[in-house]
Amino acid sequence: MGIEEKAPAGFMLGSVEKIVGLARKSSVWPVTMGLACCAIEMMAVGTPRFDISRFGMEVFRASPRHADLMIVSGRVSQKMAPVVRNVYDQMPEPKWVISMGVCASSGGMFNNYAIVQGVDHIVPVDIYLPGCPPRPEMLLNSILALHEQIRNSPLGVNREEAARKAEEAALAATPTHQMKGLLA
Ligand code: SF4
Repeated sequence: MGIEEKAPAGFMLGSVEKIVGLARKSSVWPVTMGLACCAIEMMAVGTPRFDISRFGMEVFRASPRHADLMIVSGRVSQKMAPVVRNVYDQMPEPKWVISMGVCASSGGMFNNYAIVQGVDHIVPVDIYLPGCPPRPEMLLNSILALHEQIRNSPLGVNREEAARKAEEAALAATPTHQMKGLLA
């Protein structure tokens, strides 16, 4: 008989999920992904004034294989889009994405052929952070919101499948034809 069957219903899974959630949210490492002016605000969170190291996150990794959070800070050009996707694909699961600023989230004022009209066309987004640019405090706030999401995420959810569906929905809503090949 498995230990889950001996324990009161839901006891084991609930406890394990809480421990795993706590461990995951306390050990998030961001990958370096500064694309435009928003990146300056993102860099500011590493300074003593804002001090992202309070959350153990001050080490922005240069290698996607060491990271589980991508903060897309700035507009995503069509040329950069495959690189963003490539970096995302190399990050191990589970992984999360914050879209920082209006440009990353929707193209912002750059409604033209050169800019991807929302980074959710190429990677799934967990948190959309508004503003142009969002202040470092706003980024910290979105990180805390993401921590809560991570802490309360149930185990056993196939995030990759959910991510594909989110991308397809984003593409269907506002087709960016150049990006279609990336999702094939
Ligand atoms: S949202 Fe504003 S600050 Fe951020 S990349 Fe766009 S123009 Fe720059």
